[in-house]
Amino acid sequence: MKTLYRKFIIATLLILGISIVIAFILANWVYMTSTKERIDSQNVKVAEEVASSLEQMHSTSHLSFTGYLDSISKLGYQIYVLSESGEEFEFGEPFSKKNLPAEAKRVIEQKKIYHGMDSSASPWMMSHFSNQLGNTVGVPFTIGDEDYGLYLRPNNKLLFSDVHVIFAWFFVAVSIVSITGVIWFAKHLIQPITKLTEATREITRENFNFPLNIHRKDEIGQLAESFSTMQVQLQHNDEARKSFINNVSHDFQSPLMNIQGYAELLKTQALDDEHREYVEIIDQESKRLSNLTKQLLLLTSLDQKSYPMKRGITRIDTQIKETVRRHQWRLEEKEIEISYHLPPATILADPELLMTVWDNLLTNAIKYNQPEGSIFIQLAQTDEAINITFKDSGIGMSLDQASKIFERFYRVDAARKKDGTGLGLSIVKHIIELHNGKIEVESEIQKGTTFTIKLPIEKQTEE
Ligand code: ADP
Repeated sequence: MKTLYRKFIIATLLILGISIVIAFILANWVYMTSTKERIDSQNVKVAEEVASSLEQMHSTSHLSFTGYLDSISKLGYQIYVLSESGEEFEFGEPFSKKNLPAEAKRVIEQKKIYHGMDSSASPWMMSHFSNQLGNTVGVPFTIGDEDYGLYLRPNNKLLFSDVHVIFAWFFVAVSIVSITGVIWFAKHLIQPITKLTEATREITRENFNFPLNIHRKDEIGQLAESFSTMQVQLQHNDEARKSFINNVSHDFQSPLMNIQGYAELLKTQALDDEHREYVEIIDQESKRLSNLTKQLLLLTSLDQKSYPMKRGITRIDTQIKETVRRHQWRLEEKEIEISYHLPPATILADPELLMTVWDNLLTNAIKYNQPEGSIFIQLAQTDEAINITFKDSGIGMSLDQASKIFERFYRVDAARKKDGTGLGLSIVKHIIELHNGKIEVESEIQKGTTFTIKLPIEKQTEE
């Protein structure tokens, strides 16, 4: 099994190897195209000057130039002299290989300059630095009536000063290739982790189908595999949970209806006060339970990703007015004054779902209002959205409480009102979000609460 650790080591070595090869090829290219020629012409110049000095000595025998060439070699050169008659002389550091090619002999025979490095067939610069006689430059000179060939090359110490530029190139190339390689590899390593983070975020949004597409055999591959298994398991659990709530809520409905029916029937009977109170409680509690199961059913069906929205042209103003009309008797009962500003406004939406929103907001505004309080509903339309506000002069909430009211089953004070379920506002938020809208709340204790809803127009009609 490939471990991430081993992968990292192999990749680092590979990057290093590749960068060295690339850098070497680059340095070799720089040497072959410019440095080699420069070294060659420098050497030829030195050799020619030495040869002309020898000729100007006007001596007749080789004995006179040995001292001179010996002192030249001490300046950092290796020198080899070959005479027409085949006599050989060597000065300075000895050559490791005395392989003078036939071409070099033309220096004596035809007085032609020999370029040992330049004429070399090897494409690699290292072969030019080896301590061989073939890697010299050759120039002719004559002493008396004897022709000679002078073969010269700087020793490696001197040559090094020329190649330091090449080493600089080598270093730059290695650095560039290694840095690029490491960056690329790190990116390749991080990419699946970024994907996993995204998938985790999707899970919090109840999307269990985020595709990972990570096909690796290392630890990250294993993590991705376990993650995919977890996605499937979570999806399965989520579906099981929803279908459980669905089934239970359904199964609760019919016995509750029976209880309510019998309670209604009992209320018509002649009962003493104590028993009438009991029946009243049974009636109220069964209604609350029935309401809770209905809300649970609605919430679980809204939770399904493919909730079938029945969109149609919806008149928001008419819907809200209708809701107010339905709650008129409760408003009168609590002596709450209601006013509204509802100019005509149409939108493409699911009318039944939106009706649930207005109903919930108005019920809350009545339920959590002060006696003789007030409610104000306003609608304002812009080019992009319809803004609806429900403002009440009720008991209000603290900032901390207001931040939690859209959570399921959250109630500010469960004992304060018995007929609540804590599900109404989470349903409202869900519906608004299904319509790509937004809901916000502002509240102050004992002053009142304002809910603001923004429903976008364009996004809706596009869909
Ligand atoms: P409930 O069935 O309890 O009304 P909701 O989800 O509709 O459930 O509301 C959650 C909680 O938010 C309520 O229990 C209540 O405490 C608080 N709340 C909602 N609307 C208002 C309002 N207009 N004024 C004050 N408190 C409110």
